[in-house]
Amino acid sequence: MSSDYYGTSAAYARKEQGYREKALKLYPWVCGRCSREFVYSNLRELTVHHVDHDHTNNPEDGSNWELLCLFCHDHEHEKYTEHDNQMGSVIKAGDNDHVAATFNPFADLKAMMEKGKK
Ligand SMILES: [Zn+2]
Ligand SMILES: [Zn+2]
Repeated sequence: MSSDYYGTSAAYARKEQGYREKALKLYPWVCGRCSREFVYSNLRELTVHHVDHDHTNNPEDGSNWELLCLFCHDHEHEKYTEHDNQMGSVIKAGDNDHVAATFNPFADLKAMMEKGKK
C-alpha cells in the first residue's frame, strides 16, 4: 500500500488505533466536511484527519483531529498536494505529477555553465 494516511499499512494501523479510538469517542461520527453520518457498519469509511498533517501530533484533547469520510479526507490532502507541488495551479483528477516531480530546475543552469566554460 503506498497511501498511508488511512492507516492501511500494518505498522500504521497499529499506531493509528490509539488515536482513532480516542477521536471516535471524543467526536460524533459525522464527517466534518460533508456532514455524512456514520454507524458501526460503515465506520471504517470514517477516518481521522490530522489538522496540521502531522500524524505524530496527537494531543489528548483531540485538537489536532478531525473526522472525515474517505472522500473528503482524500480531497483535503489533494488540496495540500496541489498547493505544495504547483503553487496554486490545479492538477486534474487522474493526472500524475511526475513531470513536476522530476523537473530539474538546474538542468538549464548546468548547460549554460558548461557552455560558458568552452
Ligand atoms: Zn465527507
Ligand atoms: Zn488527513
